[in-house]
Amino acid sequence: MQRRDYYEILGVERGADGSTIKGAYRQLAMRYHPDRNPDDPEAEDRFKEATEAYTILSDEEQRRRYDRFGHAAFESRGAGGVSEADFGSMAEVLEGLFGDLFGRRGRRRRGRDLTYELDIEFTEAALGADKSIEIERPTPCSACEGSGAAPGATKQTCGACKGRGAVRAQRGLLGGTRPCTACRGRGEVSDTPCSDCSGLGSVRQKETLSVKIPAGVEDGATRSVSGGGEIAAGGRGDLHITLHVKPHPIFEREGADILCTVPVSFPEAVLGAELEVPTLAGKVRMKLPPGSQSGRVFRLRGKGISAYGGYGKGDQLVTVMVEIPEKVNKKQRHLIEELAQEMGTETMPQRKGFLDKLKSLFD
Ligand SMILES: [Zn+2]
Ligand SMILES: [Zn+2]
Repeated sequence: MQRRDYYEILGVERGADGSTIKGAYRQLAMRYHPDRNPDDPEAEDRFKEATEAYTILSDEEQRRRYDRFGHAAFESRGAGGVSEADFGSMAEVLEGLFGDLFGRRGRRRRGRDLTYELDIEFTEAALGADKSIEIERPTPCSACEGSGAAPGATKQTCGACKGRGAVRAQRGLLGGTRPCTACRGRGEVSDTPCSDCSGLGSVRQKETLSVKIPAGVEDGATRSVSGGGEIAAGGRGDLHITLHVKPHPIFEREGADILCTVPVSFPEAVLGAELEVPTLAGKVRMKLPPGSQSGRVFRLRGKGISAYGGYGKGDQLVTVMVEIPEKVNKKQRHLIEELAQEMGTETMPQRKGFLDKLKSLFD
């Protein structure tokens, strides 16, 4: 693509000084700004073109390189022109430059997004919950109305960013800007800082926010509270919450199903029993049929977790584990020995089958 000369775009002489360039750009920017020409792609192109030209020519070093090498000076970054992302960050610079020119609140940065790590109980994740969290977030200082300057203090244009409030970040050619640290993005510095906020323009304020935890969320899920972030003159950032689900002493989770293991005694497994089993909804009674093997799994339908964002409910899977006593007293030992004598292989078909196979292997 044939690219137009930056001076030609701005309609200035090659030797034009900084203020002439700024003035020319300002005229074009006002004329073609997207806010004034909604849905006009040609105006948008002209605006971007002018902005790119201005971005280069307003920077002494970039301008020198351009004067020497033309567009080739910046070709190493690949495709020519300004990408959308760059354009966004330039728009920030522009707002810093022109303030309320376009009816936007110039130099007013939106508050940053904040993050929060929230521990929740297993049952809160499974059933949903309303949590309140306390955050401490930067809020504009009321004493100085966020300016950072003491009342009546003299303000000067920030030297570090020349009043733009932003400086070029060290990536790519036009690639991005970041807020100026010298003036904290305000473009101005004052000789006497506000005593309430030590010139920061913001103070940290504690606040309680309520967060809705939907039923079925999993560990590591995130929730966002719109407007829960830093408060700045240009608007509030969002709060991004990462949920950490604490382990449960009895339950484990597999998708929408709840897993648990219930220890039972040898007599219960042999004779059958009615077991008390914990579920999310409280204790339920579960029939253990006679002759239940260790490791057998019983399914309690609908006792699981409501599938998050889906339909239906999971089940609870109860694994019974036959507990073998590790120690027995004298009387117990005697009774078990008696039981062993009494129990022939016909009561244990699996053992009988095993012994038969063993026999055929070695005989
Ligand atoms: Zn203050
Ligand atoms: Zn600055």
